[in-house]
Amino acid sequence: MAHIVAQPCFGCRYTDCVVVCPVECFYEGEQMLYIHPEECIDCEACVPECPVEAIFHEDNLPEEWAEFKQRNAEMAPKCPRITEKKEPLCGS
Ligand code: SF4
Ligand code: SF4
Repeated sequence: MAHIVAQPCFGCRYTDCVVVCPVECFYEGEQMLYIHPEECIDCEACVPECPVEAIFHEDNLPEEWAEFKQRNAEMAPKCPRITEKKEPLCGS
C-alpha cells in the first residue's frame, strides 16, 4: 500500500508535501512529483499539505486517475529525490 500523487499536481508542484514526509519518498518529475510506493509508509502527513488535493491513499484514488498508481511506481525510481520546498511551476 502507498500514497499516490495524481493529476492535480500536474504542472504545479507546490512541493508543500515533501517537507513533511518522514521517509523522504517524493521524487521530482518534469511536470509533477511522484511517491515511491515501496518507500511510502502511509503516514498521511502529506495529504493535508497539498493545496490542490493531489495526494490519495491508493484505496481512495479516484477511478479517473487510476493510471497514476502505475505512473508513480514507474517514474519515482527514475527521478531525483526532492526533500526541500521549491518555487511552484504555476506561480503562487
Ligand atoms: S503539494 Fe500537491 S501539487 Fe504540490 S507538489 Fe505536492 S502533491 Fe504536487
Ligand atoms: S503518506 Fe507519509 S510516507 Fe507516504 S508520501 Fe506521504 S508523507 Fe511520505
